[in-house]
Amino acid sequence: STNGSGNNRDRLSELAARHLVQPWPVAGQIGDEARGLIRSGDGVYVQDEHGNRLIDGPAGMWCVNVGHRCKELADVLYDQAMALSYNSPWYTMSAPSAELAERLGKLAPGDLSHVFFTTGGSSAVESALRFMQFYNNVRGRPDKKLILSRGGAYHGSTYLSASLNGRPRDRDWMDGADHLVVKLTCPNPYRRPEGVSREAFTDWLVAEFEATIEEHGADRIGAFVGEPVMASGGVIIPPDDYLPRIAALCRKHDILYVSDEVVTAFGRLGHVFASKDVFGAQPDIITFAKGVTSGYFPLGGMMVSSRLFEELRRSNHPDAMYAHGLTYSSHPIGCAVAMKNLDLLEDGLLDHVREIAPYFLSQLKTLEELPLVGEVRGIGLMACVECVADHDSHNPLRLDTEVGQRIDAHCQDLGLLVRPLINMCVMSPPLTITRAQIDEMVRILREG
Ligand code: PLP
Repeated sequence: STNGSGNNRDRLSELAARHLVQPWPVAGQIGDEARGLIRSGDGVYVQDEHGNRLIDGPAGMWCVNVGHRCKELADVLYDQAMALSYNSPWYTMSAPSAELAERLGKLAPGDLSHVFFTTGGSSAVESALRFMQFYNNVRGRPDKKLILSRGGAYHGSTYLSASLNGRPRDRDWMDGADHLVVKLTCPNPYRRPEGVSREAFTDWLVAEFEATIEEHGADRIGAFVGEPVMASGGVIIPPDDYLPRIAALCRKHDILYVSDEVVTAFGRLGHVFASKDVFGAQPDIITFAKGVTSGYFPLGGMMVSSRLFEELRRSNHPDAMYAHGLTYSSHPIGCAVAMKNLDLLEDGLLDHVREIAPYFLSQLKTLEELPLVGEVRGIGLMACVECVADHDSHNPLRLDTEVGQRIDAHCQDLGLLVRPLINMCVMSPPLTITRAQIDEMVRILREG
């Protein structure tokens, strides 16, 4: 049996410990780390091995946007597998891939009318970075390859995408292409550099950006990569006007602005894409994944400005090849699922997010009454509860065991899954969540 019922759990844990390498394993714990077994899901809920029902607070990994057990998506997945389970994107194409490309091209901001499909977020970011390298090689600017990234960022687990990561601990034991990356300050209004007021923070960040261009030279910088809202860094919402000003600087200095919307696209902020609609910034490339299929099939991609393709076409090297492609690029099942997922988003779910998000945030904000909570911040249906040692210093609360994990453990006993992040708890539930379910979530979180 694969459903993990009863004492089958012990057997499965043993199999996993012996054979299954889980993401982010710690050297000394490989082989004896128990991760909770999830048996099933329905709507905003999942069921654990004991049959307990838990609200899926993080929607898996920010991805189960339409909720679990969505029959429409399951049916499309099955039907497409029976019609055409796979075709090689090297020599052929499928109807769902062409139709989805056209639809996304219409939904993406500005002239981002071309899409390259990948298998997830890391491969989307990796594709964008390799595209930037190719683009500058073809234009005869082989030195224009540096990538600007920021502290607190998370962009993936492939070599180059991971080199951009700026969260504590991500890089401690891992190598990266450090010679290609320049790190900027995290635009976190709650943790500003000393002496910088909230009002002056945007100017400070923009000045740092300009100074960095000055220091390294615009002719050596190929791209700036940034999440509109840093997700895994702790739901960092940048100050107003920051992204449009950074986008304008990128345009001025011929630096590609890559907006990593792996989390923020497909409804999380109430829009299909958030860069322009929510933050007023026009990127050259948008990367996406996760919510595009609500996690029902691994799919990601990048939307690319037609202006860039036009330049490539008119270059001195119209025969140069972007030697980049994945066996599962444009997977017909993923594209078919994404089409139906978009139907569901456009058929009321985006409106629902915009309508319910203020309630979600106002209810979570009440947790700021708790002494250990320093700040609750959020936008759309993503939020973070940050625990601090004291309210003046904002120093993160540290205990013998990680605070987020302890809160998560308590909450799981009470019926809620939390995404623990060191001293923070992140909430990004399925977009279908109701007011009553938000009340239940916040009540448990408070008690936890
Ligand atoms: N970019 C962002 C902003 C992410 O949050 C993530 C994953 O959480 C990724 C990229 C990597 O995506 P994936 O895990 O699908 O490779």
